[in-house]
Amino acid sequence: MSIPYKVAFFEVKDWERSYIYEAFSDKEAFLTEKAIDEEYVLNCESVEIISTFINSGCSEEILKKYPNLKLIATRSTGYDHIDLDYCRTNGVKIANVPNYGEDTVAEHAVALLLALAKRLPESIDRVKSGHFSTKGLTGFDIKGKVVGVIGTGHIGRNFISMLKGFEANMIAYDIKRDFALEEELGFTYVELDYLFSKSDVISLHVPYLKSTHHIINTTAIKAMKDGVVIINTSRGGLVDTFALYEGLKSGKIKSAGLDVLEEESAMKESGCRGDARLMEVNDTLIHMSNVVVTPHNAFNTTEALVRIIKTTIENIKSFMNNGSVNIVS
Ligand code: NAD
Repeated sequence: MSIPYKVAFFEVKDWERSYIYEAFSDKEAFLTEKAIDEEYVLNCESVEIISTFINSGCSEEILKKYPNLKLIATRSTGYDHIDLDYCRTNGVKIANVPNYGEDTVAEHAVALLLALAKRLPESIDRVKSGHFSTKGLTGFDIKGKVVGVIGTGHIGRNFISMLKGFEANMIAYDIKRDFALEEELGFTYVELDYLFSKSDVISLHVPYLKSTHHIINTTAIKAMKDGVVIINTSRGGLVDTFALYEGLKSGKIKSAGLDVLEEESAMKESGCRGDARLMEVNDTLIHMSNVVVTPHNAFNTTEALVRIIKTTIENIKSFMNNGSVNIVS
């Protein structure tokens, strides 16, 4: 017999259960550790609200199984894993968690940059393999470098603020310029072409949209300084992986720090298949000595995770009470 659950939480971690059951009764909320594509609620008809994390690809095919769906409360900032056209056409609202980790993700971007600048992964491997030599491990200083930030929203601005502490020269590009912020943090807005041509380091902090798809592509890389360093903690689709690989191979790009990859969902345990060529290049990137890849882990701190679940519960409760907290679409 299936219980007519109203709310279905997917990809739930054990520690999240107490927060969810404090807010919803066990008759009201269905909880599973699985992603949405792996397991469905027995009684999909009753489900009005779904909460997922980014590993649940909310495609039309899946969402159609929930005929009474009204809200998807994603436990993330980005919502490009959700079919927005389907949601708009079928009156399904989307709520996100806009502010849980602006410091958290910015810190991770700084960590990737430091790992590359100070050659940390290779240095650690060297020592672990029993060798205490510095041969071939010369890094670079961040002080005095031009760092170009693409996207000066919540995360980008924190990244700028942190890098100012290193005395880097900060320039930025955003479709919406915040001149008060520019003055407060002491950076300069520039056009994208200028940012490409002047930056020693480029860090991406824009959402993945049609307009930002492959914002880093062959043409962009050609326009960059020789020996540029690229950091991407935003979304894999912002970077043309093949162009990145060619740039790294040729030495045009000195190094790359990536928390996100194109087709990364195909690399997770769920077993879904991705573009074979892309998967192969991803694998090559992962094993390159001048590339540091982390598994979309930038958000993953204890403090940020608690903020995520608390905000998601507030979003759902607000929606249930006819509110619209953090509704983004
Ligand atoms: P935000 O919405 O606060 O800021 C995004 C900024 O990008 C805005 O200032 C916006 O004006 C700008 N922008 C949008 N489209 C643009 C375009 N075409 N060209 C230039 N600028 C454009 O978002 P945020 O909180 O700073 O997060 C940024 C991204 O980081 C998210 O969309 C998400 O994809 C990613 N993220 C990753 C992780 C992780 O764990 N790796 C965690 C959280 C967020």
